[in-house]
Amino acid sequence: MSKGKHIPIRQCMACRQRRPKRELLRIVLTPAGPVLDPTGRKPGRGAYVCPDNPACWAEKKLRRFAGAKALELSQALQLVLGSVKASKPST
Ligand SMILES: [Zn+2]
Repeated sequence: MSKGKHIPIRQCMACRQRRPKRELLRIVLTPAGPVLDPTGRKPGRGAYVCPDNPACWAEKKLRRFAGAKALELSQALQLVLGSVKASKPST
């Protein structure tokens, strides 16, 4: 039988929901600050958030993982994820 069907499950650091890894966005905490890692390949301490749930991008919810960098991370998420959905040309 093929065993290529295994789906890794990860937990969102903000809402604690368990979801397939590919539905979540990985974030890596580097010495320079938190970095979004859509490919999931960067080395380092990583955590996951729901990219489709703005409530999971709140600074307060990220603090557990990012500590003092939580605000920076929250802003990065809102910038990157928020603008994906709101990509309407303003004409
Ligand atoms: Zn979440």
